[in-house]
Amino acid sequence: MPVRSEKHRDRRFKMTPQRLAILDYLKGNVQHPAADDVFRAVRRKYPTMSFATVYNTLEALKKRGMVKELTGDPDKKRFDPNTSPHHHLICTNCRKIVDIPVQFDLDFAEQYREGFVITGSHIEFSGICLECRNRSRA
Ligand code: ZN
Ligand code: MN
Repeated sequence: MPVRSEKHRDRRFKMTPQRLAILDYLKGNVQHPAADDVFRAVRRKYPTMSFATVYNTLEALKKRGMVKELTGDPDKKRFDPNTSPHHHLICTNCRKIVDIPVQFDLDFAEQYREGFVITGSHIEFSGICLECRNRSRA
């Protein structure tokens, strides 16, 4: 069946040295980098790396559930290699994003669920980070 083999081929993620370098940079990274952060970092080791390769790789990883895309930064998409459920603090001044490894009890009454089965939730707390607060005080 051609449809199934097509799907199977799409699911596999062909590892090229450039893709490996991107994965390597993302592994354990808690900075929630944007595509251009990844590009700048990986280009140091791979000067021939193009922004398109970085962008396309991030999109491919996202499609496969290997990174999450964050929407909390209005200036650019940010990526999170930590795909386990967690929440975020976002500085509205410098756009720093910090993990909150705390579980919140987010239950709410059936009558407001509109028939939805809830499969996930994500909270973004916005505010001013300590560094930005110290800087504005100085
Ligand atoms: Zn800040
Ligand atoms: Mn995170």
